[in-house]
Amino acid sequence: MKAIAIVPGRPETAGLVELPEPPASDGSLLVQTRLIGMCGTDREIAADGYGVPPPGEDRLVLGHESLGEVLDAPPDSGFAPGDLVVGVVRRPDPLPCPACAADEWDMCATGGFVERGILGQHGYGSERFRVDPRFAVPVAPALGDLGVLLEPVSIVAKAFDHAEKIGARAWFQPRVALITGAGPIGLLAALLACQRGLETHVLDRATEGAKPRLVADLGADYHCVSVEELPIKPDIVIECTGVGQVVIDATHLAAPGAVVALLGISHSERVGEARLDALNKDLVLGNKVMFGAVNAARRHYDQAADALAGADPGWLARLITRRLSMREWPAALEKSREDIKIVIDPTDAA
Ligand code: BGC
Repeated sequence: MKAIAIVPGRPETAGLVELPEPPASDGSLLVQTRLIGMCGTDREIAADGYGVPPPGEDRLVLGHESLGEVLDAPPDSGFAPGDLVVGVVRRPDPLPCPACAADEWDMCATGGFVERGILGQHGYGSERFRVDPRFAVPVAPALGDLGVLLEPVSIVAKAFDHAEKIGARAWFQPRVALITGAGPIGLLAALLACQRGLETHVLDRATEGAKPRLVADLGADYHCVSVEELPIKPDIVIECTGVGQVVIDATHLAAPGAVVALLGISHSERVGEARLDALNKDLVLGNKVMFGAVNAARRHYDQAADALAGADPGWLARLITRRLSMREWPAALEKSREDIKIVIDPTDAA
């Protein structure tokens, strides 16, 4: 069977490889891959060499954002042929690490985890894959292809879950949310903020195109100004740009007691002047919290499934701006200005 693969850090090696059928050791569910989503991490694997192939191999099969249809499932697995599923990305540290043992592999304390399609294990980007039922998330049949958005939503679901838990350390009644960056994660964060009834503001550099319209259609406000010019005091910030200056400015802008979740990372060499003592003073005197969040625990996948089920399918469909066949997949490494989410369809023989 075919798979999409690359040597990390060598974009010119992006192509298809021929693999044997998925090994039984990957899990008892056999799944026909329906769609694979591509994100900034895949582009970092290609350009910056972020990923790690399985031991002894030089190529990594990509595909940590998956959607597939179960072909074969053991009777006691809770799944049946025809079910739509998404595979969990991270596998716990087998030591086990105490966080992983509590099914919070996203909080792994040892760094001994692996991530399918990113770190140490092949991804789901093959015509078929196998997965253990414990790491398979059921997708409502009505969602169909939109289920491919479940993994990125799980990242945002974790950010809100943790922000709300941090906020709950004291009186916390968030009213206003700021999302910085209107890429796929930012737009999905705006969706979840609106679902929570928060007055939602999204900041991005794009002055026209799909992003402002998508934000407006959620009932949220779109801003194309500098952070300091925003006329709001957000209680929750979901930072999706990874730009240091935006992180600092958004934290200063935030209301007393605010929680700022950092989801973005930047690999730029940008050097700037930051008044770190002023930031320290603002965090202390404002009781503000900045925290980073990566990956997602099982409960965040389930929260993501609920969030997608409650969203307007027409709005979600507009996030998928390009669909490529497996042969065409390397084109997904080049994102155009209008692209939001690019997906690869392994059932398309073109
Ligand atoms: C994935 C996460 C993963 C992270 C770091 C993100 O793109 O969505 O599941 O933990 O990259 O590897």
